Amino acid sequence: MVGVRVRPLSAAESARGAVDCLSVTEGNKVFARDPDEKMGGRDYLRLQQFNDHAYQFDAAFGPESGSSEVYARLVRRVVTAVIDGYNGACFAYGATGSGKTHTMLGQPQACNSRREEEAVEELMAAALRDDDFDYKFGVSYVEIYNEKVKDLLNPDSQADLEVREDAKHGTHIQGAVELAVGSAAEIMEHMQRGSVYRTTEATNCNEVSSRSHAVLQVTVKAVQRYGEGGGSKRRLAKMSLIDLAGSERAYKTDNRGQRLVEGRNINRSLLSLANCINALADRTRKGAHVPYRDSKLTRLLKDSLSGTSVAAMLCAVSPSSDQYEETLNTLKRQDVPRAS
Ligand code: ADP
Ligand code: MG
Repeated sequence: MVGVRVRPLSAAESARGAVDCLSVTEGNKVFARDPDEKMGGRDYLRLQQFNDHAYQFDAAFGPESGSSEVYARLVRRVVTAVIDGYNGACFAYGATGSGKTHTMLGQPQACNSRREEEAVEELMAAALRDDDFDYKFGVSYVEIYNEKVKDLLNPDSQADLEVREDAKHGTHIQGAVELAVGSAAEIMEHMQRGSVYRTTEATNCNEVSSRSHAVLQVTVKAVQRYGEGGGSKRRLAKMSLIDLAGSERAYKTDNRGQRLVEGRNINRSLLSLANCINALADRTRKGAHVPYRDSKLTRLLKDSLSGTSVAAMLCAVSPSSDQYEETLNTLKRQDVPRAS
């Protein structure tokens, strides 16, 4: 499932004269009004005129939608799948400043707006309700920066960790710390602490730009308690929550050197993620090659994207007229066929 979330216009955006150029309708469509046309004095509220800028998703959330709604319509089904023993993944995609981290992590003070917390809480509550299985939870948290994997739960180690695959653990990061946890609060604590070590750099975009992909994985081990063959029936599932790096193009920040290398590596991971999802979604090409090996991100998430796993993608966008081009880049692949 793919959803889109439009955040409110920020005070800084209004202050520099930008206006709201997006509207959400019917819970699944976004209309984009070209800011240049608006300046030309046209009546931009006549939405029919803008059919060529309409984009449809499985779910669309406007600025008035709270994170709980995003959770209920997009994230909950992934959590439910993980409880049932499948791998699940939630991605936040979008340009820097569009609301990815807000949606995933929320602001430290706003305890009602943390999607990851809601996801891990529901996961653990469901495990407690289950009389048939005993559950153990582990958490790991890494970032992928310039195609290097760094352990956010072991920040002193500068090691570039390897993605490995075996029958027992599926795809995983060799040597990454996995901490045993007993509550959602503990997971959130580890995550808040780990997030401090995420690689962020100020770019010419005048924002603190997140240049890395952050991957939080909660592993769920379930062992059957009683009955016939008690203790022998086991399930192992993973929930991955991924805060992707800013999707804006490297050229936009007008950076040289280091930033350009980063841009290419960010695009490499994002591009190969898109390629994998497209190959997986294309049912007519059943058995077609899925290029997991093209980037660290897709190698790590291979067993959370393929087979019987469940994934949700949340595309975050700013409604600001001065982000219009970037917003269209994010919305673009969801064109609604033009009504004739
Ligand atoms: P990103 O992680 O995509 O770079 P952030 O999540 O940091 O962007 O969001 C940028 C700014 O916008 C932050 O100050 C954040 O608090 C604010 N923001 C984002 N989404 C929302 C929202 N839905 N409601 C209110 N404020 C938001
Ligand atoms: Mg962010």
